[in-house]
Amino acid sequence: MKKSQQKTVQWQLEVPLRYEADIAVLGGGIAGVSAACAAAKSGASVILVERFAVTGGMLTTGGVANFCDPDHLDGQGEVFDRILADLREWKAIGYGKKSCFHYEVLAVVLQELLLRRGVKLLLHTRLADAVVDDRGRISECIVCGKSGPEALRAKQFIDCTGDADLARRAGFETLKGGEPSGYQLPMSLMFFVRHVPPDVREPRLPDGWFNPVEQEEDLPMVSVWPDGPGANALKMKTPMFDSTDTESLTAAEITARRRMMDVLDYYRNVENKPWILDHCSPIIGIREGCRIAGDYVLTLGDLRAGRAFDDGVARGTYQLDGHKPDDDRRTYILPKDELKVPPYQIPLRSLIARDGVNLMMAGRCFSADQLALSSARVATSCAMMGQAAGIAAALCVQQRCGTRDLDPDKVRRTVIERGGGLGV
Ligand SMILES: Cc1cc2nc3c(=O)[nH]c(=O)nc-3n(C[C@H](O)[C@H](O)[C@H](O)COP(=O)(O)OP(=O)(O)OC[C@H]3O[C@@H](n4cnc5c(N)ncnc54)[C@H](O)[C@@H]3O)c2cc1C
Repeated sequence: MKKSQQKTVQWQLEVPLRYEADIAVLGGGIAGVSAACAAAKSGASVILVERFAVTGGMLTTGGVANFCDPDHLDGQGEVFDRILADLREWKAIGYGKKSCFHYEVLAVVLQELLLRRGVKLLLHTRLADAVVDDRGRISECIVCGKSGPEALRAKQFIDCTGDADLARRAGFETLKGGEPSGYQLPMSLMFFVRHVPPDVREPRLPDGWFNPVEQEEDLPMVSVWPDGPGANALKMKTPMFDSTDTESLTAAEITARRRMMDVLDYYRNVENKPWILDHCSPIIGIREGCRIAGDYVLTLGDLRAGRAFDDGVARGTYQLDGHKPDDDRRTYILPKDELKVPPYQIPLRSLIARDGVNLMMAGRCFSADQLALSSARVATSCAMMGQAAGIAAALCVQQRCGTRDLDPDKVRRTVIERGGGLGV
């Protein structure tokens, strides 16, 4: 149903102003954690709002548990370097494969880092709305946890929700999907199996349940990764759903869990894998939600050219990972021999919301076209964007200025001083 045809109701609520900080970071994935930690290091008071029980986003709640580009993990900046060092200290990385990590340990590492830096953490708390004036200045956001709706006032806001939730609530312009279909990159469900002795057999799918798979050609795209000793992680593609629509996201979760049972049944009973289901990630993996239109939209052409920018503050090195939006098989938007790109920079302008004066964004909701996002959405680049946005927001607070009045060179210098490699 078109929005204009929908019935509406009006509601008004006076809510307590419970929280105040220099900077509010919405969303505690790798981008949000990096932004909050970097801003706190610069001396700002920071509140991080996360809707789930743990931070880490796709990497923890989404079960991704893998960093791309394992040979280029170090040197993204001090926040990500610290996270890696902590994972190594816990012997929680190189978990079966060089780039895989124990995601439950990552959740602990991230929360402890935030707390050590003095970031105030609000878990089980969802961003619900924004109070914004007609110049695009957000004064408060409304968050809702178990205490009910409450206001959070800040000087600067950073949207790291992956779905541009704050920008959408503020009525700012967003970008979704790619040309020409408008479809988003497909989701994938992560689930985990434990190895059991071969004589421990599970029955086939009970009669009447779902759609048994009898041959490999009928499987959706499934990637199988190691997940520590005696276990595997499986990633199963589930296309054509929209993470920014309540009903579509609900349908995605239901569809993916049904298909998971079909796929498991195939592996156990057709391929005779000695596996039992251990657990499934609490949320389906979302590659692309909704991006915020920024002062600059990073493009595929920029990536192909390995472009450096005067205001380059982060870097991408990963290939174009644009899975075909309308297919559940291992297919890509571009031909396989066109996926490689040279290292490229991400400009500060693509982290500044075009319609706002105190809103930045980082991670998979930054300002880019779909194919540029398909590369820059990996954890390392999201962490770098987060660090840069945190540094920039803290500078705005120190200088009492808007995001657009900052000297990008200052941000860039601080990124480099803090170990962020920007070389292209
Ligand atoms: C299936 C799959 C496989 C992948 N494989 C890899 C890989 O191998 N290597 C790699 O490096 N990358 C991989 N990626 C990409 C990478 O995991 C993500 O793009 C990256 O982690 C995104 O980080 P983020 O912080 O931008 O967003 P997210 O991790 O999505 O974090 C957003 C956070 O915001 C919170 N949030 C959202 N809305 C609200 C709200 N309204 N209020 C409060 N909180 C909110 C969420 O709960 C979440 O914690 C994969 C992604 C998927 C989906």
